[in-house]
Amino acid sequence: MSAAQPLDNLARGLAQRLGSDRVFRQGDGPYADASNVWNGAVAVRPALVVRPHSDEEVAAAVTMAQQCGVGLSVRGGGHDWAGRSLCDGLVIDLEAMREVSVVGGTAVAGGGSRAGDVVAAAAPHRMNVATGTAGVVGMAGLTLGGGYGPLLGTTGLAADNLLGARVVRADGQVVSTDDDPELLWALRGGGGNFGVVTSMRIRLHPDRGLTGGMVLFPWEEAATVLAGCAELFAGAPDGLGLLFEMTVVPDVGPCLLAVPVWSGEPHRAEAALDEVMRLGTPLMSTVAPTTLKDLLAQFDQSVPHGMHWDLRTRTVPALTPDIIGVLKDAAEARPGPGAGIGLRRFHGAATRVGADDTAFGLRTAHMVVEISAGRGPHEPSGAYRDWADAVSTALTPYALPGGYPNFLAPDQDEQIAHAYGTHAPRLVAAKRTYDPQGIFTATPIPNRELLETYPA
Ligand SMILES: Cc1cc2nc3c(=O)[nH]c(=O)nc-3n(C[C@H](O)[C@H](O)[C@H](O)COP(=O)(O)OP(=O)(O)OC[C@H]3O[C@@H](n4cnc5c(N)ncnc54)[C@H](O)[C@@H]3O)c2cc1C
Repeated sequence: MSAAQPLDNLARGLAQRLGSDRVFRQGDGPYADASNVWNGAVAVRPALVVRPHSDEEVAAAVTMAQQCGVGLSVRGGGHDWAGRSLCDGLVIDLEAMREVSVVGGTAVAGGGSRAGDVVAAAAPHRMNVATGTAGVVGMAGLTLGGGYGPLLGTTGLAADNLLGARVVRADGQVVSTDDDPELLWALRGGGGNFGVVTSMRIRLHPDRGLTGGMVLFPWEEAATVLAGCAELFAGAPDGLGLLFEMTVVPDVGPCLLAVPVWSGEPHRAEAALDEVMRLGTPLMSTVAPTTLKDLLAQFDQSVPHGMHWDLRTRTVPALTPDIIGVLKDAAEARPGPGAGIGLRRFHGAATRVGADDTAFGLRTAHMVVEISAGRGPHEPSGAYRDWADAVSTALTPYALPGGYPNFLAPDQDEQIAHAYGTHAPRLVAAKRTYDPQGIFTATPIPNRELLETYPA
C-alpha cells in the first residue's frame, strides 16, 4: 500500500459521509485558513482538513481516521503558541461549530467558538464571561487548559466556569459529562487530551459594569511600579485584575504596560484604579468604564497574527525584589522589540475553588510569568530562543515547580511533570481511560514515566 493510500481512503470516506465540500487538501479554498495558526513559526501542514457541523460528524471523522491509520488533531481558535492544533495527518477544524446560545445564567458554546463569540452572545443578557484577555482565542482551548483572565478575581478561571460538555471520545462515542463527572474533572484544566469537546455549558456572571483599560508607565519606573504593586496586591480586593507587559511600544520605546480591570462593586472602581495609577507617572491611560467586549478588542489589536514566537513560562508566588530585578534585567537584554515579559495575577475567587474540584494544579495566589520571544518571520530564531531560555533559567530559583499548562512547550518535561500538582496521577489515569491509544494531543500532561523521572 502506498503512503498516500490511507489518506486517499480517508478523504473518500469523509467526502461520502460529510460531503466533498467539507474535506480539503492543500490548494483547496478553505485549506489555507484552516491550517493557518497564530504562531507563524509553526511549519506543520496537514494532509487533510475536515470541517464537521455536528457531534455525529466529528465522531465519524475520529472513527474513520483511526480506521485508516491516519493521525489527527483538533483545531479550535488556532492560538496555541506551540501549534498543537495541527498535525501532518487529519485536522478536525471546528470552525463551523461556533454557535453560542444563552439561557438564563448559562451559555452553550460550540467547540470551535472563540472567547469573543461567547462574550458577544452574553452581552445582550447583561452577563459577563470568564475569558482570557483576547477575544480571538478559542474558548475551548482556553478553558480546557485553565484560562487566566481579567475577571478571574471575581469569576475564577475559565475552567472553573465549565459546567458541562459534550465530548466525542477516542472510541467515537458521543458522551455528556453529566453522565461522567470524572471526564468533566479532567477537562477542567487537563486540556483537550480526552476527546473532542463539541460544546460547552459555561456559567455566566451578571455584568455589574467594568472599568479598565491600558496604562503605560515609563520604563525607568518599571521596578518601582512592580514593587508598589506587590504591596498593593497584599491588601487588594478580589475585583482588581491586573496584567503587566514589559514591552516596546512604537514611538515610545521600552515601557511597562499595565492592564488594570475592576470587576467588583462599581462604586469602588475609582478608588481601586487610582491606586494603580499612583504606582508611577502614567504616560498614557485608556482606563474608563468599559465592556468586556471592548476590553478584549483592545487586546486583539495588540496580538498580531503571523509573527514567529517561542514561549517559556514560570510561576512565582509573589513579586519579590529579587524577581523584579531578574525581570527588569531580562527585559533590558531583549533581543528585539517583539520580545517581552507578561505577568498575570491569580487571586480571589480562583484561589477559593476546591483544590480537587478541577484538574488545574495550583490554587494558591501566584503570578504567571509569560516570556514571549516574538520576532519577524525572517529573523533567525536562535537569539530569541536563547533569551527566553535564559530568562526562564534565571527565574528558576524563585519559581514554584511546574507552570501554566497552556504556555508550556511539549519538551519541558520537568515543568510538565509538576504542572498539575497532586492531580498528576489522576490525570494519567484519566488519559488511560478515555484515550488509551493517545490519539489526542493537546496541552501537555505527564505520563507515568515522566512522573517517575521527576518525582514530586
Ligand atoms: C494572543 C493570545 C492571547 C492569549 N491570552 C490568554 C489569556 O489571557 N489567558 C490564558 O489563560 N491563555 C491565553 N492564551 C493561551 C490560550 O488560552 C491557549 O493557547 C489556548 O489553548 C488557545 O486555544 P485555541 O482554541 O485558540 O487554540 P488551538 O491551537 O486551536 O487549540 C489549542 C489546543 O486545544 C485543543 N483544542 C482546541 N479546541 C478543542 C476542542 N473543542 N476539543 C478538544 N480539544 C481542543 C487543540 O487540539 C490544541 O491542542 C493566549 C494565547 C494567545 C496566542
